[in-house]
Amino acid sequence: MALRKYIFVTGGVASSLGKGIISSSLAKLLQARGYSVTIQKLDPYINVDPGTLNPYEHGECYVTEDGAETDLDLGHYERFINIPTTQNNNVTTGRIYQSVINKERKGDYLGKTVQVIPHITDEIKRRIKILGTRGNFDFIITEIGGTVGDIESLPYIEAIRQLRWEMGPLNSLVIHLTLVPYLAASAELKTKPTQHSVKMLLENGIQPNILVLRTEHPLNSDIRKKVALFCNVEYNSVIESMDVSTIYEVPLLMQKEDLDGSVLRKLNLPEGAKPEMKPWKKFVGKVKNPKKYVRIALVGKYVELPDSYKSIMESFVHAGAVNDCKVNLESIQSEKINEGNIGNIFSDIQGILVAPGFGDRGIEGKILSARFARENNIPFFGICLGLQCAIIEFARNVIGLDDAHSTEMDLKTAHPVIDLMEEQKGVTIKGGTMRLGIYPCNIKPGSRASRIYNQLEVMERHRHRYEFNSSYLKIYEDNGMMAAGINPDTELVEIMEIPDHKWFIGVQFHPEYRSTVLNPHPLFIDFIRAALI
Ligand code: GLN
Repeated sequence: MALRKYIFVTGGVASSLGKGIISSSLAKLLQARGYSVTIQKLDPYINVDPGTLNPYEHGECYVTEDGAETDLDLGHYERFINIPTTQNNNVTTGRIYQSVINKERKGDYLGKTVQVIPHITDEIKRRIKILGTRGNFDFIITEIGGTVGDIESLPYIEAIRQLRWEMGPLNSLVIHLTLVPYLAASAELKTKPTQHSVKMLLENGIQPNILVLRTEHPLNSDIRKKVALFCNVEYNSVIESMDVSTIYEVPLLMQKEDLDGSVLRKLNLPEGAKPEMKPWKKFVGKVKNPKKYVRIALVGKYVELPDSYKSIMESFVHAGAVNDCKVNLESIQSEKINEGNIGNIFSDIQGILVAPGFGDRGIEGKILSARFARENNIPFFGICLGLQCAIIEFARNVIGLDDAHSTEMDLKTAHPVIDLMEEQKGVTIKGGTMRLGIYPCNIKPGSRASRIYNQLEVMERHRHRYEFNSSYLKIYEDNGMMAAGINPDTELVEIMEIPDHKWFIGVQFHPEYRSTVLNPHPLFIDFIRAALI
């Protein structure tokens, strides 16, 4: 029987303090003690999901196996605890209101005034509890997006207050993450913002049980005592979270601070043996002490915001460790690439990855990058739109179809080598209507992909509307670009490769969503291996 304990993680003082990483680290430690854990993110914005958000707004959109377009924190959860999340692991205010309004229209509340309390808070509570009732989890960690004090997070805080009251102190607890700023002029760490933030939680009826303090400098015992006294928490429940060079070190820091022990003691649960973190420590050791370096270009149009390509970046950290090397990613804005400067831009690059994306901004720079990689025998990895660019390039410059394009960019092209999928043709609504989630892919025996995967049937996650137009497949294969992966049900081409090249692979799916610390993705590993040669 699963224990079903609920841990709520809130944040105060500032955003971007790393609630997702703290939640993932705690989950990892509890898991390493033998408990089953899942993590959920509640986002207080009104979009039903982040699928319709530009990455500049909220970073990458992460896609789960069951096809949910979710917050990028779910990527961290999966990378840390190595188990897949689902639609239920990410809920937004938009989704909460949508279900309440749908129920109201159906007449479920007939005669009643529908209000934030109790109807919205009840729906929030239902969404939190679903994870516990549908899965077999000892711990359900729920991270509340945003910062305490924001108007939009109030219903979530109220829902937690009610749940705490309903569940009692031995079935739930609250961890509050804040910032302790350092004033260089007076060489002092300041706890007042933390005190104020806790006060704000108290005003809303919540006494946090554990405080995690993000800081650039170590917290001495006086500071810890002061925070404990003024925020009403035990001394041992004031946890220091120092800035570190890699997020993967955070579970080890939290272990040192005994965050997991604190949680277990408060819930009156056996601490048992210390968490088994050997494989994790080995991985962190490799990340921090690389034996080699490799320079990879990441060509995309959202490069100004690193969070836009979060999963790709993390996949390179995992794959780099396997290769005992650090991947130095050179983010290149595809709009800036032209025939005149491309040689310079890629002069000391050992591999080129063209990123996923939408729309025509910067598209020609991506197409040029694929060409440069092909012509100069530089390892090339195209993901989703990156594959589509490689296909367009090959048509134009190898097959001789001068104006080949994707109908996403040019509806009137004479050679639509990338075209809208049949199932997408009648679709007009934008939210949640792409080809999303996990699909099977059969790998062609003898292909490079088959050697890399070392298996002939794989499952990968998708997020796109356009596909390779298979009516051109024969002419591609006659000219040296081969289909190496096909969906067995729809015959959609999922992988293209050029066998007569050092390493040239494009995939219609997103391998980056599947790379975790314990299961790095084979395509990323082999791409790095090839780039190092
Ligand atoms: N815009 C392309 C499509 O919809 C590629 C999508 C992507 O790169 N995720 O097919």
